[in-house]
Amino acid sequence: MIYHDTLEFAHQLDEQDALKAFRDDFLIPKHNGEPAIYLCGNSLGLQPKSAKNYIQEQLNAWEDNAVEGWFIGNEPWLKYHRLLLGPLSNILGAKETEITVMNSLTVNLHLLMVSFYKPTGNRFKILMEAGAFPSDQYAMESQVRFHGFDPKEAIIEVAPRPGETTLPTEDILKQIADNANELALVMFSGINYYTGQFFDLEAISKAGHEAGAIVGFDLAHAAGNVPLKLHDWQADFACWCSYKYMNSGPGGISGIFVHEKHFNDTSLNRFAGWWGYRKDKQFLMAPGFEAEIGAEGWNVSTSPIILMALHRASLNIFEKAGGLQSLRAKSEMLTGYLEYIIGRVNDKYGEDVYQIITPTEKNQRGCQLSVVCKRDARTIFNYLAQNGVIGDWREPDVIRLSPVPLYNSYIDVYKAAQTLFKALGAVK
Ligand SMILES: *Cc1c(COP(=O)(O)O)cnc(C)c1O
Repeated sequence: MIYHDTLEFAHQLDEQDALKAFRDDFLIPKHNGEPAIYLCGNSLGLQPKSAKNYIQEQLNAWEDNAVEGWFIGNEPWLKYHRLLLGPLSNILGAKETEITVMNSLTVNLHLLMVSFYKPTGNRFKILMEAGAFPSDQYAMESQVRFHGFDPKEAIIEVAPRPGETTLPTEDILKQIADNANELALVMFSGINYYTGQFFDLEAISKAGHEAGAIVGFDLAHAAGNVPLKLHDWQADFACWCSYKYMNSGPGGISGIFVHEKHFNDTSLNRFAGWWGYRKDKQFLMAPGFEAEIGAEGWNVSTSPIILMALHRASLNIFEKAGGLQSLRAKSEMLTGYLEYIIGRVNDKYGEDVYQIITPTEKNQRGCQLSVVCKRDARTIFNYLAQNGVIGDWREPDVIRLSPVPLYNSYIDVYKAAQTLFKALGAVK
């Protein structure tokens, strides 16, 4: 694709965009009465206009049926979570039985660690990427301590080479192989939140298994962003949040994946609750936990129906849009355009003031570009915000910009770049 740095060109790409109508399905925040340039779907996705209706339906069901709502009505709450599994299985590349919807992300990470971090003898270490999202670091450290180990000894972090910011796949695979006898778990994010690097999850899964370890993924920045094939890649478990690229609202409900190869493994620990009990016998209220077969057996507590209704609003838009495959084609173009046009800003300024640290290869990134500002980064970020370009800031000098194919346009990207250029007039 040959890009051009003009408003006409951006406009033309929008005209040709088969997905352009989906922007109208979302509520875009305003800046001075005009739609803002919202490039922050990596942090909180926008609200689907339909969200209110999905919630209202459940408020109506509560009004009409009260407690009977668990069993009657168009969508009895007892099985409401299953309405989400079709779209989620497409987004995650999993069988419906391998997924369930529950809790929030860090809580789920802990629950999955109960089942899948099983240190024994020399095999007690966890290998993860250096600079993982802080909540994941805290979860790993506290899990390791819970089992009586010292995080300094038990956690191996794969770090970039000196002077680099991203991780070559070969370095990850080599460290897995080098520590093969000691690894209990390989735990990686799908996309690193800071750099935007999309890891080769299939290769990591394969290497982890060859090393005799369990392999888990945190897909917070990957789910709803890039196509995934958790089942085929043989991941043992995964978790994600839904409020980033899946637009389920602040603190929206999260989900987990457990590969079907573990369904019959009765040796797995779990912290059980009645919502994971065999559905056919749940209301016999008998003593002794018997898990539902599949990921659902990891459910703990009563379904939060309102959160699930919110999640469903956006998942149904994913389905209407033709799923991740069709969104991904636009996403590559949109992010490619942002990358190109930031390069043009540098050219016009006569200096590489904006340095993109996210990989250039399409299969190593999703929507997000992480941009290091070489001058007065905070002033630039503030200028963007004051001029209606919403990205987000990461210390010490990184601005993350994520054009999302469901609701961002090429004109958004064009205008964001214009603002990045004008911002340079404000720096010292
Ligand atoms: C966003 C994010 C989280 C947030 O976890 P919550 O439990 O939803 O607060 C955790 N881990 C990663 C990798 C994230 O990107």
